[in-house]
Amino acid sequence: MSQRRTGLDSPSTQGDDYTSDKHAAMLSHSREETADRGDWFRAPRLLYSHQIPQWQHDNEYILGGYRPTSESTWLSVASLSYLHNQTINAYSHLIGALIFVSLPYYFYDSPKFRHWRACFYAGFGLSSIIFVVHGLVLHGWELQRSRMSLVWMGWMATSNLVGAAIYATRVPERWAPYRFDLCGASHQLFHIFIIAAAVIHFDGLVVAFRIIRSNPGPCHAF
Ligand SMILES: [Zn+2]
Repeated sequence: MSQRRTGLDSPSTQGDDYTSDKHAAMLSHSREETADRGDWFRAPRLLYSHQIPQWQHDNEYILGGYRPTSESTWLSVASLSYLHNQTINAYSHLIGALIFVSLPYYFYDSPKFRHWRACFYAGFGLSSIIFVVHGLVLHGWELQRSRMSLVWMGWMATSNLVGAAIYATRVPERWAPYRFDLCGASHQLFHIFIIAAAVIHFDGLVVAFRIIRSNPGPCHAF
């Protein structure tokens, strides 16, 4: 007869070192010490907060349901198979992680999100305008143009946006069937524009870096 191995579901009935503890009266802990024949794994007896090592204490208000430390990767993984005070945390992490891993695939693979992908790409890039505008408001165009390489950044943004627009509209393959199937399709052009944008960005950063370094204390210029 196989019993469910939850480790938490059977009330404490046998006396031992901690049944006198008032927590023991409030919490039901497994006393299962006998293996069910045929079980591949036996859930260990769960512990109360005063029975675990200091490092395992995280939340003083969680009083029971602690796994004994096993110092074994296998036993730690196997602890997913019975109920303890980290079971729901572990599974909700796993499920959340699976959702986060699989959503981008769904998002990336589905043609109907093409415009959303392009918009996200452009939106993330354009969010840097916040910092540019903030700098302009504080220090004005002349200083910011040189030390933020704003002309470079403008070309960088242009290149990225042109690339995103090409990707979203699927130009030029929509205009010339078959001609760009192997070479020159929108996704390829998109990559070229992105790489160009990255090179322009890097150049702009180097120029700005030189200006800032050759001009000591520009932050105190005003
Ligand atoms: Zn790509």
